[in-house]
Amino acid sequence: MAKQFIFIPLLLLTILIFGFTLNRIWQLFKITKATNPTQDMVKRLILTLKIAMGQSKILRKPFIGFMHALVFWGFLAITLGSIEMVMDGITGKEHFFSNFGWFYSLITASGDLFAYIIVIGILIFLIRRKILHIKRFSGIELTSKNKLDASVALLLILFLMVTLIGLNWSNSIKNEAVLTGWFPVSSYLASVFSIEQTLALCVYQLCWWSHILGIFIFANYLPYSKHFHVFLSIPNVYFSNLEPLTKLPNMSSVTREVKLMMSPNPYQQNSNETISRFGVQDVEDITWKNYMDSLTCTQCGRCTEVCPANITGKKLSPRKIFVDVRNRMNDKGPKLIKDKHYTDNKSLVGDFISMEELWACTTCNACAQECPLNISHPNLIIDMRRYLVLEKGLAPTGIKTMFANIENNGAPWQFSPQDRLEWTKDNEQ
Ligand code: SF4
Ligand code: SF4
Repeated sequence: MAKQFIFIPLLLLTILIFGFTLNRIWQLFKITKATNPTQDMVKRLILTLKIAMGQSKILRKPFIGFMHALVFWGFLAITLGSIEMVMDGITGKEHFFSNFGWFYSLITASGDLFAYIIVIGILIFLIRRKILHIKRFSGIELTSKNKLDASVALLLILFLMVTLIGLNWSNSIKNEAVLTGWFPVSSYLASVFSIEQTLALCVYQLCWWSHILGIFIFANYLPYSKHFHVFLSIPNVYFSNLEPLTKLPNMSSVTREVKLMMSPNPYQQNSNETISRFGVQDVEDITWKNYMDSLTCTQCGRCTEVCPANITGKKLSPRKIFVDVRNRMNDKGPKLIKDKHYTDNKSLVGDFISMEELWACTTCNACAQECPLNISHPNLIIDMRRYLVLEKGLAPTGIKTMFANIENNGAPWQFSPQDRLEWTKDNEQ
């Protein structure tokens, strides 16, 4: 009963804080523009199974990809054990799911095995970040705060796994005669490194509470961290772009304008319409999917690593685009919730992302191809360029000349339409 007396208020507090954070994020989503990437459910489910659950893109880097995939699958297996701990805490029982027979043995065995695998994986990830200084984990967009966040999240996961191992190990000692569940590695270790039953009971209680409190803290830390992808990666892949990467979506604002122009009475139809933005200037112009991409981005740098503009020394880093969207939303979003006309005379395009960055993109789509979360960078980059061209008339000189030629000559070249057949004269007999 004492356990429930402490556990239930802690659980309620965790849910309350988590609910507050989710509501705040929901309000930010409401600022963004609508989009509807929901058609073709079967295709989306297959994509999610392949890319999110099967980790197919992560596995393109065989060793580190496999380690990440093991950590991901391990998390899924361990989550069932965490749900059981919550049920134990609420009901005051031990091993709430133990009636599930062989399935329970499977859950406990996979949870036990994966706890050790995840510890190895996290240690490798920390070594790569802190000792080997892998190049893609740095860049102008990654501040010391971003780097600290990455380390804190990894250390929290390590803490959770160590306490879980302690839990399984002490459980194997204290219940040696009637062990519920199957803990292949911890039981073996318990037979090699054993302690007194009473001490094992203390270690068990300490690890149980440390582990569950760690989960509560971790769950509330994640939404503020790049590790929010733990929650969002599966839905983000589900809602990702199904079209060929090179296909540019039409601008709904332009389509609407064209339809109005072609209607018999454009002025009458236009009377109730609000003038919309052409392209993306700031966070209120992005779609909810763009914002979800920014929250899901793990800042892994795989996109920047393959970006030809970045490799050849240009200022553009595709990862920075989504880091900037998230930062700008944190900056302006809460004020927009209070006042939808709020302005601080800054904008995403210009103050966060420069023209130089935007026009450096070759739209090759290597970034989108490589991103393990199926984020599409070029579409957002092009929407920002559309704003610059259509609303500001700002484009590099070469492109401006081409626009003028298309307008005047109906072709990108500087020749009059009347001269189009001039080249045939040389071939006349
Ligand atoms: S956009 Fe994708 S590839 Fe780029 S850093 Fe984020 S998760 Fe990694
Ligand atoms: S599409 Fe643009 S941002 Fe993406 S890799 Fe190519 S050049 Fe870089």
